[in-house]
Amino acid sequence: MDKVDVVIIGSGIAGISSAYYLQKNFPDLTYKVIEARSDLGGTWDQMVFPGVRSDTDMYTYGFTFNPWEGSIIGQGKDIKNYLNDSAQKFNMREHILFDTKVTSMSWNDNQWTTKTTRNDFISQYIICCTGSRDYKYPNFPKFKDENKYQGEIVHTQDWGNAEIKDKNVAIIGSGCTAVTMTPAVVKEAKKVTLIQRSPAWIVNVDGDEKSTRTYKTYETLIDYFHSRIFKKSYKKKVLAKYPYYNDTNVPSYDFWDQRPACSLNNDYFDSVKSEKVSLELSEVENWEANGIKLKNGNIVNCDLTIMATGLNAQLLGGIDVFVNKKKVNLNDTSWYRGMMFSGIPNLFAHTGYINFSWTARCEIVSERICRTVKYMQKKQFATCTPKYVGKTSKPAIEANYVLRSMDKFPNRSYKFYNSNYLLEYLIFKWTRINDGAVDFV
Ligand SMILES: Cc1cc2nc3c(=O)[nH]c(=O)nc-3n(C[C@H](O)[C@H](O)[C@H](O)COP(=O)(O)OP(=O)(O)OC[C@H]3O[C@@H](n4cnc5c(N)ncnc54)[C@H](O)[C@@H]3O)c2cc1C
Repeated sequence: MDKVDVVIIGSGIAGISSAYYLQKNFPDLTYKVIEARSDLGGTWDQMVFPGVRSDTDMYTYGFTFNPWEGSIIGQGKDIKNYLNDSAQKFNMREHILFDTKVTSMSWNDNQWTTKTTRNDFISQYIICCTGSRDYKYPNFPKFKDENKYQGEIVHTQDWGNAEIKDKNVAIIGSGCTAVTMTPAVVKEAKKVTLIQRSPAWIVNVDGDEKSTRTYKTYETLIDYFHSRIFKKSYKKKVLAKYPYYNDTNVPSYDFWDQRPACSLNNDYFDSVKSEKVSLELSEVENWEANGIKLKNGNIVNCDLTIMATGLNAQLLGGIDVFVNKKKVNLNDTSWYRGMMFSGIPNLFAHTGYINFSWTARCEIVSERICRTVKYMQKKQFATCTPKYVGKTSKPAIEANYVLRSMDKFPNRSYKFYNSNYLLEYLIFKWTRINDGAVDFV
């Protein structure tokens, strides 16, 4: 059994941010990052589908402590290299234990025991940086007669060695992933059919745009709140701006209900005009030997079907949590400021924004965690445990993957303003740590 002050689980953006702020604020604290994969980067290590890139501008998606110096939209490989570079720069790599999966976390006798597929760890705190989705099981809709289909089916989360060159490809899904990958797939494939139940909101980004973190923060948040307050007129404005939309091709949800997809230098809008591409606004009825039958009666012939059908949301990496030998059901807890759970002592967990850069929230939460630990050191407290207070949780966004998982989320939340970066920025920095909603002992 190894002993450290803090165990961090996961080495993606949240893990790197947590390690950076811990080192900066507590040079004498010991910590270990436990990572199931063979390399760091999380999402940006796992996602290798053609064309993978950010949707958010990199001015706000990069860390404040290691500003991004590339172009406004980051390609997947470049983001992965950037995360590696950040870990290298601040000497974090030596703290990461790769190829090691956490299997359970148990709180007993005022300390955590983290069981892993290798050695176990004892610590005072855990910071869970396991992302927001199920790494093993993405959303993979099942359609009738799958065993009839003779082509290949691949999910974007589990790309493997799938080849698209000269193939007839169908892409099922219309979200950010489908929009991102379409131009890259169109370049290589013989023919591409986009099967979309409901079109997505897509905005064009000029790849040469130069900006600053402050301006992008201001611009994104103004855009978000504007679209929330003036829903109808804002929708009309976007529909009028892009000729891609027409009477039959209109998203069924409101602008900013989900993060808008990004067309870089019009690459998506240009590629759907290609003769190689057909757009089917319909749902799948069933599989056929040579392709897919749609509910509108059309048959799509394809030898490769790409499921760009998204994720299954998951908190705490689906890891079993025990407090004094009792298994915790997260659905019975309250989500304290979107960073702790009632009844679970000394455990912090990250989640990001849907309407703003994920990284930005990871940084403000990391700083709040450090403020909490400093407060406890000063007052000589050993534990901090949020109380079961707050309001009934409402989904932050009406995205399918959130609605599908509501029974796995806390049923209450307390002061969790997860669509308002500016408010959280101020609150996390300036409000009292002992705010009455946490028991410090
Ligand atoms: C294709 C794609 C594009 C995206 N683009 C954007 C964007 O433009 N802007 C934006 O804000 N967000 C975007 N996101 C959301 C993205 O997930 C976050 O921005 C961010 O990368 C999440 O970082 P994280 O560190 O919280 O989690 P992750 O990147 O998911 O990392 C979690 C880590 O925890 C590890 N882990 C999980 N369980 C265990 C366990 N039991 N034991 C040990 N290790 C474990 C995983 O292996 C992984 O390395 C995108 C997501 C995808 C899939």
